[in-house]
Amino acid sequence: MTATATIVVVVALLSAVAVWMVALQQAEIENKASRIYDVAMPKTFEATRVVRGLERLARDGEAILWVATADERDERRLRLQTVRDDSALQGTSEIREQVASALAVLDENLVDMRLSGVAARAAALTRWEPVAQSLFNLGVQLGAEAVDSALAESDGIFGAVQAARRSLLLAMAIIALALLVATALIFLVFARPLKRLAASLRLAGEGQAMSEGSEAIHELQVLHDAAVALARSHQQLAAMRSQLDRLAHTDDLTGLANRRMFQERAAQMLELAKRYGDPCSIIVFDLDHFKTINDRFGHEGGDLILRVLGQYLRDMARTVDLVARVGGEEFAVVLPHTGLPVAQMAAIRICDGVAALRTKMPDEQVLVFTASFGVAQYQLGDNDLAAFMHRADQALYRAKAGGRNRVELAD
Ligand code: GH3
Ligand code: MG
Ligand code: MG
Repeated sequence: MTATATIVVVVALLSAVAVWMVALQQAEIENKASRIYDVAMPKTFEATRVVRGLERLARDGEAILWVATADERDERRLRLQTVRDDSALQGTSEIREQVASALAVLDENLVDMRLSGVAARAAALTRWEPVAQSLFNLGVQLGAEAVDSALAESDGIFGAVQAARRSLLLAMAIIALALLVATALIFLVFARPLKRLAASLRLAGEGQAMSEGSEAIHELQVLHDAAVALARSHQQLAAMRSQLDRLAHTDDLTGLANRRMFQERAAQMLELAKRYGDPCSIIVFDLDHFKTINDRFGHEGGDLILRVLGQYLRDMARTVDLVARVGGEEFAVVLPHTGLPVAQMAAIRICDGVAALRTKMPDEQVLVFTASFGVAQYQLGDNDLAAFMHRADQALYRAKAGGRNRVELAD
């Protein structure tokens, strides 16, 4: 068990004990309070009845002696019998004996008075006085005992209430401590590591290395490194992909767009021109007597010429233009936002530029070569790229037929 778990268990146990103690005290108070009704109050009532009985006996015992006739005294004496038989005066042997001896003195007095008449009254009263006094005394003593016992019961309640208050204070203190410990644990076990985790995640988000720390941070470090490595390889893959893409769309020899790329992009450019009613032109050209060059300088010589031409076209083309090698020694340039007159001027510039190129061949000879050009502007009748190019090709044939190294416009 970890230290944290031990603390939690101990604090929980302490809280439970405190609450249990409060509950016990509560039960004790209830018990003590019920004793007031069950024991103290009946006892007090009982004592009151005893005291009243004893007082009545003392008073009536004297009153009988003042009655004039013997018969009436006997009748009153008979009624006093009910006092003796009262259950209240049967309680203890002390009460029973006291009552019996008082009645015996009374009977003695009555016999004297029957024999001697009222002349015996004074002596009878003198005999009765200490008896009556001791009956009063017993009553006072029993009453005091009853009050004492009731006081003892209420003292018990008072003590229990005091103890309960102490327990309640203790329980509150323990529960407050438990809350304090729980708060501290929540902070230590959850909040602080979470805060550190959040800080590390923020650092990771900013691409910085994370500080050393808990296992969770170590895990995050590993995750972060893996994510960085993944991102790096993803970048490399993307670069390779775009290179492959470029290779797939580029002509090796000239570095210009290849036929596939030309088909895709020219169709897109034409589509845009159609949609926005924008002019768009195309220049197609073919090297003149290339077979002869191949024949004179070999295939490598021919390739050299193609490379030189590629370099020249890449240097002079506008970035918006699409320049492609569409066949062996056939090329095409698509000029967006360009009408026929401007396209014609561009073709003438290229035609003149090609003718002005001076290429040193492997045998040190300087070769001059030319090309023939056909130019067309896109028009509504051109259903597709092929139709558009076909018109430019026809112009190119005318340029060939017309003596080469020239530019011809489509109808
Ligand atoms: P014309 O003026 O009528 O166009 O005459 P030409 O000799 O250029 O005739 P044509 O267009 O029929 O011949 C093209 C030649 O270009 C045929 C082929 O051997 C050559 N050729 C095509 N591709 C290449 C290539 O990649 N390298 C080399 N060196 N030659 C190629
Ligand atoms: Mg050709
Ligand atoms: Mg040719």
